[in-house]
Amino acid sequence: MTDIKSLYPEELAAFMEEIGEKKFRAAQVFSWLHEKRAGSFDEMTNLSLALREKLKMNCEFVHLTVERMQESAIDGTRKYLFLLNDGNLIESVFMRYHHGNSVCVSTQVGCRMGCRFCASTIDGVVRSLKPSEILDQIYAIENDTGEHVSNVVLMGAGEPMDNYDNVVRFLRLVTNEKGQNMSARNITVSTCGLPDKIRAFAGEGLPVTLALSLHAPDDETRKKLMPIANRYGLTEVLAACDYYFEKTGRRMSYEYSVVRGVNDNAEEAEKLSRLLKGKNAHVNLIPVNPIAERDFEKPRFESLEAFQKLLVKNGINVTIRREMGSDIDGACGQLRRRVLTDREKGEKDI
Ligand code: SAH
Repeated sequence: MTDIKSLYPEELAAFMEEIGEKKFRAAQVFSWLHEKRAGSFDEMTNLSLALREKLKMNCEFVHLTVERMQESAIDGTRKYLFLLNDGNLIESVFMRYHHGNSVCVSTQVGCRMGCRFCASTIDGVVRSLKPSEILDQIYAIENDTGEHVSNVVLMGAGEPMDNYDNVVRFLRLVTNEKGQNMSARNITVSTCGLPDKIRAFAGEGLPVTLALSLHAPDDETRKKLMPIANRYGLTEVLAACDYYFEKTGRRMSYEYSVVRGVNDNAEEAEKLSRLLKGKNAHVNLIPVNPIAERDFEKPRFESLEAFQKLLVKNGINVTIRREMGSDIDGACGQLRRRVLTDREKGEKDI
């Protein structure tokens, strides 16, 4: 079965020819999928019934359905739990900012990177998402809210660089002018830091922002938080990030989840400053969002502020990420985990 929503326009044209149709039909179908957002082949009313039947026979129609939605009473942030065709569940988040609406998408069902503070990775990875499944998170949210989405961050469940080909394809589709037509500059891809993949990504000709999940200013501390740090040292990861900047001219973002007593003291702020000194970089401080399964704690407000001040004093560009939707299972993967646990309990009760 062809995953038709994951095809580029020229591939769709070739596919039409393969099934014995005229090439120009491809533009109509692409428009139904990516512009008019048809919910099924039956809605594609300018195609003959016979063609619609042929498409149903040959193609998988990826279309996410809303399993659950929670809206924050504080800031209107919406957390979606979507059901995939194969029964898996994924999370996405819709956020309203002054500069436009943003969606945080998942790139995998679960994750295999094992970051200690992250809820998405606790049960490992189930599978990677197809390009269409990443894309449809945005489409489904536009459909549900009736609002336009201008920005996307690949910061939901999953490691984008561990699903490299599908993520690159998603990026090319979401920036396609006949579809969502999103500006690459409004897209942020976040990675825990796979150096080879970062270098390859620099050569894709996609001027998106790359964010590295740094979280520590030295290998020893980083290893306590992120198992991937055992495989790649900071020197190697940061060299790949420098390469990304040189090649694309896009300023790097460095994410630093601040955990009380682990990476939040003045010495660490100084070390971090030295590490990033002279780089064209932006640091995002994120107070860690505690999850039930681990005992990591949020930093005290004073230490977070002091940490930021030290970075500023050292000439580092830094912001503290505003917390959104703190009343709706904020941290990554928590809503999915809660629903899965409920499901298991339900099954046992029967
Ligand atoms: N795998 C990618 C993208 C997904 S996570 C990556 O590692 O970057 C997006 C960001 O949220 C990462 O910086 C991640 O480290 C951070 N994060 C995950 N769980 C968190 C939590 N409980 N509190 C604070 N930040 C968290």
